[in-house]
This record gives sequence, structure tokens and C-alpha cells, in this order.
Amino acid sequence: MNTADQALVKKMNKILILEQIIDNAPISRAKLSEITGLNKSTVSSQVSSLLQKEMIYETGRGESSGGRRPVMLKFNRKAGYAIGADIGTNYIIIVLTDLEGEIIEHYERELDEKDIEATERTLFELIDHAVKKMPDSHYGLTGIGVCVPGLVDNDQNVVFTPNKPIHTLQLKRLLEERYNVPIFIENEANAGAIGEREYGDAGDLKHAIFVSINTGIGLGILMNGKLFRGVHGFSGEAGHMSIDINGPLCRCGNKGCWELYASERAVFSSYLSHGNAPLHQIVKALADSRDQKMLETFETFGFYIGVGLVNIIKTLNPETIILRNTMIESYPLIVDVIKKTISSRSKKEALTDCRLTVSSLGRTASSLGASYIVIERFLERFMNEQF
Ligand SMILES: [Zn+2]
Repeated sequence: MNTADQALVKKMNKILILEQIIDNAPISRAKLSEITGLNKSTVSSQVSSLLQKEMIYETGRGESSGGRRPVMLKFNRKAGYAIGADIGTNYIIIVLTDLEGEIIEHYERELDEKDIEATERTLFELIDHAVKKMPDSHYGLTGIGVCVPGLVDNDQNVVFTPNKPIHTLQLKRLLEERYNVPIFIENEANAGAIGEREYGDAGDLKHAIFVSINTGIGLGILMNGKLFRGVHGFSGEAGHMSIDINGPLCRCGNKGCWELYASERAVFSSYLSHGNAPLHQIVKALADSRDQKMLETFETFGFYIGVGLVNIIKTLNPETIILRNTMIESYPLIVDVIKKTISSRSKKEALTDCRLTVSSLGRTASSLGASYIVIERFLERFMNEQF
């Protein structure tokens, strides 16, 4: 073998060993050798290198299979940290996580829909705060992932955000200049799908659709466990699928778009005049007092969401649909109406094995997904020996 081949084999061995430690920790050197088929001295030298780089650590002794009890190895989740930011139309959520996605800090702010300068200011303020709170570690801040409700191209440019002009900010450049770490920009529903796949409790998500319903509606589509992005990265804009050919004109150029009927903004806008409290608080107060009009509004909400989901189920035949919306997560009544609407508009066969569930991560789904993207890229850079 020439030197280049030897270097490649070494690298592949390191990747194999680190992956096994991440997936199967705590694990002994002997077990690593058994699983990977690599000989003990190769495992031992790679483990030494990973220990030296603080990516793993040794922990108490495991079960003996005869003889001395082995030292166990674990992935060092505190070797570095990641920040995930979800910039919504009327909110910002920031999470600081360790390398296994455990949330260390979590901030949320309500924002004015129109005020783009306040969005930029608040984003910086909350990230600064998270950075200050970050514990000391070998690799420090490994990057910042940001997701937005709109079109993000394959070069991570925010091309268009219909409900708030986030695309006017040069997010990637601004953040790179300010924080000097890798920055990753993603669509909010795509990030949510990744968050659910990695950290949610909806099981093994192979053919799954994450439906994010806020001011607008977006989908994150997982095919064979991988995000389906389309040619430019613009897939999943189902909020702009027409459900009424004669419906009102939408900002996207189409008419009668799904989100003009089924988004929070469409269904609950009349409640925004009920004082200055955030919409969810107003809705909660009315729902808790069994306000008849609010219960009818929930029915309308569920009905229109169901109408759009029928199209999606028939187009994509997903195994799992995860709904992400604070009201749907809080009021099972809405889910019942959605299910009823879908059943009434489908043959039974179309629904076989399609599971409809609500997000277990709730409001942090997308920010956690954004943080995961940072961690995944950090591990890739590490494996490619860029440290
Ligand atoms: Zn539209």
C-alpha cells in the first residue's frame, strides 16, 4: 500500500470506530474490535488518538466476560457545543446544545411581524447570551444553524420568505462575520423534520412528513430517512398548493393557497384584536372556558388542515405525518377533526399504515434540527481530519 492509501485506511478506521462509540457507548476496546473486525492494536491506537483529541473518554469498568473487567469508552458529548436558531415570522427560538442534542440553554422571544431590524438585533442578542453561557470545552462553539420560514437554496441563501422579509438580511455573511464559526442556513420545516428524526419520539422516520403550521405552512419531507430537497432546495412548499382554484390571490403568485385557509394566521386572525397577549394565550383562555366560538374555530382549523393533508397523503404515501403546531399539540380535538376530514375524503386503502401524530419536540423541533446540522457537519470535519 502506498502512503496515500495507508492514510485513507487510517481515516476510514477512525470513522468506523468513532461511529461505533457514538452508537453503542459505553463500549470496550475488545467489543469495538469484535464489531468492526479491526485488530486490537489498530483499535487501541485509534482509541488513543480519539482520547487525546477529547472526542471520547474512559469511564468505569464494564461487565467482565472472564478476566479483568474492561475500561469502557463513551463519546464526549461535552467536547463542543452547537447553537440552533429558529427565526419565525413573529418569534425567535434559540437553543444551545451539547454534541448529543441535549439542550443547555433555551430562549424564546415574541417579535413584531413587520420589524426586521428587531429580528436581527434579537437574534444577535440571544446568540451572544447563549455563547456567554456556554461551558468551557475542547472545541468550543462548533457552529450556528439557523432556519427560516421560506425558500433557502442549495448555497444557503435565503431566497424568499413570504411572510416576513428575512431574505433582505444577509444572514450567513452577517453571522460568519460576527461569530467566526461555520454557519448553516436551512428551511424551517426541513430543520424540523431533521430534529424529529434525530431527537423526537415518533420512531424510525423513513417515509415521513413534518408539517409545520405557523403563520404559513411548510413541509419537511423524509424519503428513506433522508431529506428530500428538490433540485434547488425548495421542496415542501405545500402551503402554496392551491385548494381553491378561484380563491384569493396569495403573496406567492398562486390563488387559493392552502395556507390562506389552514394557517394560524388564516384561522385565528380575528382573535388577535382581543388584546396584546400572544395569540396562544388568548386561545388558551377561551378554550379553557369552553367558548363555543373557539371550539368552532378549532373545527375549522382541523377541517382545512385535513383537506390539504389528503392531497399530501395521496401524493407521497407517507408512513408517518408529524404535525407541529402549538394549538394542535394542546387540543386533541383538532387532531380528531383532521383525522375525520382525511377519512371522509379518502378510500380506506390510501390511509393504511399512515400514522398521524403530533410533534414531541414542539416549539423546539426546528431549532434542535438546526443544531443537529451543525453537529453533523462538525463530526464530518473532524473525521476528515480538519482539526
Ligand atoms: Zn401562496
